[in-house]
Amino acid sequence: MRKTHYHLSFLMFIFLCLPANSACDLADYTRLRDLMVKEQIIARGIRNPAVIKAMEGVPRHLFVPSKYRAFSYGDYPLSIGEGQTISQPYIVAFMTEALELTSDDKVLEIGTGSGYQAAILVELVKEVYTIEFIPRLAKRAQKTLGELEYENIRLRIGDGYRGWPEEAPFDAIIVTCAPDKIPEALVDQLREGGRMIIPVGREGGVQKLVKVTKKAGKIKIQAVMDVRFVPMVKDDSLRDP
Ligand code: SAH
Repeated sequence: MRKTHYHLSFLMFIFLCLPANSACDLADYTRLRDLMVKEQIIARGIRNPAVIKAMEGVPRHLFVPSKYRAFSYGDYPLSIGEGQTISQPYIVAFMTEALELTSDDKVLEIGTGSGYQAAILVELVKEVYTIEFIPRLAKRAQKTLGELEYENIRLRIGDGYRGWPEEAPFDAIIVTCAPDKIPEALVDQLREGGRMIIPVGREGGVQKLVKVTKKAGKIKIQAVMDVRFVPMVKDDSLRDP
């Protein structure tokens, strides 16, 4: 019944907004975001109050290209251009919760994309470092995050396989594109007691979302969910000569 209500509200919203070319009222977006949190986030078991609050607060529609803006709060990933996607809201919340963040944490994200996940993270922690491989996406994300006056997010254009050694170690690392195997540099840059969440597997094949923890110098790897992410690109032109 509640699900039907959500779908109906969502359809009505799209019906009302699309002719006006996404010129939706802020109040409509806020209502849709509240519904998203209830139906997709809380109903599916996300419990961390800080994660729920961040999902309620961050205006996801401002991270989505204007032509898809009316669909921002739907239960699916959306195109952000350059063949890339902003993850489904539930996946963003699930991965954030899995990192067991505290307010003093320093977090590294690989795959900035739209900047949405970085914004969610910075609502929970002290500092976010995020790396994007496609310059156009990085510039757009920087602009969006600047307009929303997010501080404490540092963005770099570069190759996520190398991590951000100058700022290591990190309390947590989140990877939002899928490599074939866990990059060693990222494990090295995790502090003792640190957590990493990363999708692993080939494009089109089965990918596992994996949680990596480092305790007493030992690495524990645990598969938590089947997922589908864009590939983590290996581009030799990005590497140091
Ligand atoms: N977290 C993003 C979703 C990103 S989609 C968001 O909230 O919108 C995955 C992103 O990873 C894409 O933007 C892609 O360009 C980037 N990516 C792929 N391979 C990469 C690499 N080797 N280094 C850094 N970024 C990479």
